[in-house]
Amino acid sequence: MIKSILVFIEQRDNQIKKSSLEALSHAVKLASVTAAKTTALIAGGEFESFDRVSSTGVNQIIHFQNPDLNIYSPSAFAKLLADTAKENGSDCLLFANSQMGKDLAPRVAARLDAGIAMDCINLDYQDTELVVNRPIFAGKAYQQMSVTTEKKVFTLRPNVFPFITPGPDSGLVIEKKSADAPDFSVRVTEIKKSEGKLDVSEADIIVSGGRGMKGPEHFILIESLAEVLGGAVGASRAVVDAGWRPHNEQVGQTGKTVSPSLYIACGISGAIQHMAGMSSSKNIVAVNKDKDAPIFTVADYGVVGDVFEILPLLTEEIKRVKS
Ligand SMILES: Cc1cc2nc3c(=O)[nH]c(=O)nc-3n(C[C@H](O)[C@H](O)[C@H](O)COP(=O)(O)OP(=O)(O)OC[C@H]3O[C@@H](n4cnc5c(N)ncnc54)[C@H](O)[C@@H]3O)c2cc1C
Repeated sequence: MIKSILVFIEQRDNQIKKSSLEALSHAVKLASVTAAKTTALIAGGEFESFDRVSSTGVNQIIHFQNPDLNIYSPSAFAKLLADTAKENGSDCLLFANSQMGKDLAPRVAARLDAGIAMDCINLDYQDTELVVNRPIFAGKAYQQMSVTTEKKVFTLRPNVFPFITPGPDSGLVIEKKSADAPDFSVRVTEIKKSEGKLDVSEADIIVSGGRGMKGPEHFILIESLAEVLGGAVGASRAVVDAGWRPHNEQVGQTGKTVSPSLYIACGISGAIQHMAGMSSSKNIVAVNKDKDAPIFTVADYGVVGDVFEILPLLTEEIKRVKS
């Protein structure tokens, strides 16, 4: 049984990622089974309050305030987490399966000699053992497994575990620390991002376009639909490789894994590598002119038709309903 759970809380530009709060909520839920201690670790950033973090009911928040930690450093963050886990006696570590979490969690596991299971879509006790469910072979199959090492590391798929805010009734302790001798042997020197755009891995609604959009100039149809829905724009690798869309919008095996409430795939065939990144979406709508396109095998709603006719109609209709 787990005694102490350490959760990495990801911040970028002083914004705490919702996917980390989902992992923390799940940690609090697991901890209630065994009366384990829960700790949230935040590296860098400036915060006046930790309300969103404390609202999960976590027992302890540790904030490393060193300004050098404002930007992610794989080596420094891995050392901080591993050292804190050792000091705290944490036998279970949770991360969001975000880009940063995917990079960091294996490094921390290696430092702790811990077993790791990534991209978990379920993590719960079966009797006294933590059992994981996770997709394997690019989402073709699901594996149920447990990690048998004493220390265990898990990354949780964003948008699968709910962010629960029961309120802080946990005797919360907030510790502000300055990191001693962080290991900055690996540093991120530049971050390129699309200003102001919603990140696909965090979005609750995604409208994605594929090669069926015929060219970058037609993505205005995707952007307009995403805008009226308050969602993010996603893309298949074919259009990213063609330079029509930026890489940070790519969904799939070599792009981002997403689980929004609504995923609308437009002119996307549904290759296995694309579906590996979006098939756990709660509702999938596909628009494709080929009725035999594989995307229809995972779609909850399918429209066999031309994106150039369907998308403007859909956008107008949603605008009308919303107004
Ligand atoms: C190792 C590896 C990793 C990969 N990783 C990824 C990944 O992360 N993400 C990813 O997406 N792909 C990935 N791929 C590529 C993947 O195999 C496919 O090539 C890619 O997903 C195809 O993109 P697409 O669906 O946009 O294009 P296509 O397969 O060309 O499909 C275009 C679709 O548009 C439809 N269409 C055409 N015109 C219209 C119209 N007017 N109206 C409606 N529908 C129309 C067609 O019927 C067709 O189904 C990977 C491949 C490999 C080998």
